Amino acid sequence: MLDVPLARATVLRHAHRREPVRTAPAVGRVLAEDVASDVDSPPFDKALMDGYAVRADDARPGAELRVVEEIAAGAMPSKTLTTNEAARIFTGAPIPGGADAVVMREKTSSPASDRVIVNDSPTAGQFILRRAAEMKVGEIVLPAGTVLTPQAIGVLATVGRAVVEQYPAPTVAVLATGDELVEPDSIPGPGQIRNSNGPMLLAQATAAGAAARYLGIARDTEADLAARIADGLTADILILAGGVSAGDFDLVPKVLKDLGVTPHFHHVKMKPGKPLFFGTKGHTLVFGLPGNPVSSFVGFELFVRPAIRAKAGNAVTGDGIEKMPLAESFLGNNNRPTYHPARIESNGVRGLPWFGSADLRALLDANALLVLPPGEVNYDAGSTVDVLPII
Ligand code: AMP
Ligand code: MG
Repeated sequence: MLDVPLARATVLRHAHRREPVRTAPAVGRVLAEDVASDVDSPPFDKALMDGYAVRADDARPGAELRVVEEIAAGAMPSKTLTTNEAARIFTGAPIPGGADAVVMREKTSSPASDRVIVNDSPTAGQFILRRAAEMKVGEIVLPAGTVLTPQAIGVLATVGRAVVEQYPAPTVAVLATGDELVEPDSIPGPGQIRNSNGPMLLAQATAAGAAARYLGIARDTEADLAARIADGLTADILILAGGVSAGDFDLVPKVLKDLGVTPHFHHVKMKPGKPLFFGTKGHTLVFGLPGNPVSSFVGFELFVRPAIRAKAGNAVTGDGIEKMPLAESFLGNNNRPTYHPARIESNGVRGLPWFGSADLRALLDANALLVLPPGEVNYDAGSTVDVLPII
């Protein structure tokens, strides 16, 4: 049986990123090309205040200057300032030749429309942003691999890139399995429960940056499973919940094999979620997560999230585990490495009360999982533990 790091490495070895596409930049996507600026920004020495462009040497408190023109944002100056001249100027407008400072309007008075009295002693360069201070033409401002944040999308606009090479969102298909399941809008009959994994896994996939599609509930028959799985194999990643353990109705591994999916592992040394299947067909990754909701959730966080990120063009490095002090003492008692719902607070991390893999409600307060080694260990408050933050 593989341990988690080896299982994760196996998944990542098969998680090839998608071919880049050339489209309008979309938030969360990863850039697949180096982007250079096609402009100096700002394109000219630019006023950062409304006021008067002046020659700093002329402008001392009480000096009266002749206003030779008015320059609005979007206009170009037509005059070069000479001794004791000023130009009325607005934020964003180009600084006229001869001027080397801007005096803000609040520090002036205007005895006539063509005169200004300065109440300031400006230093040279004051309230001027020099041409190309932000970026130079030809300079690479966004290297390949950059995640397209809103501000990156703003900079792409600055440099004239309405379309860029970027890795598309991986497509993810989610299939719930089980004769006992009904959808959330139904009242469960005797022996039935609601399908919580379907909506949860769709939400996890969407939050991880995938384009997720729901395939419904497959009943525990080979025919129904085969039809829905065949549909799901058109996605970059197919996630199944349930039907992967060793019970009589756990048909998923067999049906996957019949449909040409190559199995890579079927069990992982972890709790919850030991019977976790991973296989591939072509470039499609197939995850069979155990049906207990916390097992599904944890299996997704450990294996599916990194696969989505890798397929989306991110460099996936490290296991995400951080060292943190325990805020309260905690008794660990497990036969396998365990991922226990936890909450990171200002004074450390706290293990949450938890009834095991069927107790999804315990995750409501969780923002992390304690990563505990097997064995009975009594951790004192303040001792350092491994923690996997969850998003
Ligand atoms: P399985 O992995 O199919 O053996 O299911 C393990 C447990 O998880 C059983 O108690 C199932 O009823 C439950 N379960 C399976 N699928 C879901 C689901 N989609 N939503 C909620 N519980 C589920
Ligand atoms: Mg089942």
